[in-house]
Amino acid sequence: MRYPTIKIFGLVLLLSLIFAGSSLARPSTTYARQETITVTANTVNFRMGPGLAYETMAQLKKDDKITVITQKNSWYQVRLGNDKIGWVASWLLKNTEISSATNTQGTINTANVAAKENPADDSDTLGTLQQDATVTVVYEKTGWSQILFQKTVAWVKSAYITEQSTADATTANTKLTVDSSIKSLTLNDANVKLRATPAIGGHVKATLKQKTQLTYLATAGDWYKVQTKAGQTGYVANWTVTPSSSNKPVTTNASDLAEATIVLDAGHGGNDSGALSQKNTYEKTFTLQIVKKIAAKLRQGGAHVVLTRKSDKFVDLAPRPALAKKVHADAFISIHLDSSPKSNQASGTTTYYYGKSKDKPLAKALNTQLDNLPLPNRGTEFGNFLVLRDNKQPAVLLELGYINDSKDYAQIRSSSYQNEVAGDIYKGLTRYFK
Ligand SMILES: [Zn+2]
Repeated sequence: MRYPTIKIFGLVLLLSLIFAGSSLARPSTTYARQETITVTANTVNFRMGPGLAYETMAQLKKDDKITVITQKNSWYQVRLGNDKIGWVASWLLKNTEISSATNTQGTINTANVAAKENPADDSDTLGTLQQDATVTVVYEKTGWSQILFQKTVAWVKSAYITEQSTADATTANTKLTVDSSIKSLTLNDANVKLRATPAIGGHVKATLKQKTQLTYLATAGDWYKVQTKAGQTGYVANWTVTPSSSNKPVTTNASDLAEATIVLDAGHGGNDSGALSQKNTYEKTFTLQIVKKIAAKLRQGGAHVVLTRKSDKFVDLAPRPALAKKVHADAFISIHLDSSPKSNQASGTTTYYYGKSKDKPLAKALNTQLDNLPLPNRGTEFGNFLVLRDNKQPAVLLELGYINDSKDYAQIRSSSYQNEVAGDIYKGLTRYFK
């Protein structure tokens, strides 16, 4: 079933929904405050919850229209048609500016308000709302508000809800930070708005063309502060651009890997150099180079990639698995290089796992692919490393050669080897998530 929509911008978005093929009597005009977006991938799974682990309820097709309700762990909670609520991977819907800041929150202003199945007094009551309860309004029509209620939706008389102004939400989150690993940005989409403030409703200073290059200035929540070639500054939404670290456009063909969140962990960093090569170069330098190659490859496949470090900075061990937990990673991959007590004593790659059921299947899927590398594959082994032991998510640690072996080192420092590693991990993850 398809629900074509016509989008009209304003503080309140008027959505004319024309319901085709529906047996239920539905209104031809309704009001909502969220943004409607169009699916650009060929298929996107519509899931019960915000993550790959949740069951798929339906599949969205290219050009389907959905409305964003809220955001969690980089997943969007969306409404499909009038009554279906589910979750989709936000990074697969990058074509439009969306922000959960356009949500409408409200407070119940009367005691014992009935939550109805349909917008009618004689409809079944699903439950009762207490006075002062906070509700998320997803839809409004003719005196009734549709709200999120017990993992589904219910209808409440609009008069019983005092809505909070949307201005409060959109002015929040404007603290600026600078990410030193980002130098420039390329626009993925056509007609991206350069806004005066980091919010959907911000004044539009210019409309930018697809593939426009912008200079990165700072990050403000989900927005980048940028400068155009002409010298104009403003904000663009982070889902409309690709930072300079990945130079190829993201493909959005859906696969399970495309829906996955992967945390890549470049071993060591900053004053922790890791192992030393015979040329006095550091493990930390090559782990970061390799991680950036893997990140670019996975992002091209549509995956959501998060790095524990993007530059040569010190990151303690404990925050690395903590980050994986925070973003609900579907896989955590730590990249290291081995070292033997004396140089030229050992060669090859090793795949470490900690948990037999949680981590070993991931280790096996990746290790099989590493057979293709020019270095010997030393296989999978149990490894009692903190980044694995303290990890709540499926996690592996890859030792991708001996940095103090001259033969291994020649590979480790070459971009062809690093690209092969990236390709093998991409293939291994594709199999793992199939
Ligand atoms: Zn290491």
